[in-house]
Amino acid sequence: MALRKMNPYVIPPPTPVSLPVSGTDARFPVRRVYCIGRNYAAHAVEMGHDPDCEPPFFFQKNPDNLDPSGNFPYPPRSRDVHHEAEMLVALKSGGRGIAARDALDHVFGYGLALDMTRRDLQAQAKKQGRPWEIGKAFERSAPCGAIHPAEDVGHPARGRIALSVNGALRQEGDLNQMIWKVPQMIAYLSDYFTLSAGDVILTGTPSGVGPVGRGDVLEMSIDGLGHLTVRVD
Ligand code: MN
Repeated sequence: MALRKMNPYVIPPPTPVSLPVSGTDARFPVRRVYCIGRNYAAHAVEMGHDPDCEPPFFFQKNPDNLDPSGNFPYPPRSRDVHHEAEMLVALKSGGRGIAARDALDHVFGYGLALDMTRRDLQAQAKKQGRPWEIGKAFERSAPCGAIHPAEDVGHPARGRIALSVNGALRQEGDLNQMIWKVPQMIAYLSDYFTLSAGDVILTGTPSGVGPVGRGDVLEMSIDGLGHLTVRVD
């Protein structure tokens, strides 16, 4: 009995997920991962939708899908895995019913992330009206970089976001092309969920998404937030 009191868990508890914070040894602990769909008009159009007619929508990845290792293992059961370059927003606090004008007060920092997608499985799920997890929330499906604190980098609202594959430019856009800006995204999410410290938001991808293959080197950049290099294994 004494032993059980010291360790209340019946199995080893999962390792807490955390991301490096740029310029320090400290870590950012992750609670939830929200991802917005079709948030750049040109990408909505390339996916066959009219960006003017749609409210925002979100799906989730799992915290442990975030992976700052710099390697992306090609996932099983797909022949069409796509890159989606996105800015990541990390929250230091949260709540419900957050007003857009107050939303940036809840942001700890920003980073680079890839919303890797099993496009064939996502397309099948869409067609059948099924959830997207099988296409979106697989192991290591969100390669990412370190978090840059807002006190160092401010709150980026414009600036180039780009991704190249093996040196060839594939995705290019500007943060100012987001249909739903970061404050609006936080406000919208907080009307449906209780946001909290540790939540992160992937803010959508510009046009130019496309397939990756084993051995590819993905180079992503956002003005003011540096670079992210990911190798597909
Ligand atoms: Mn995405």
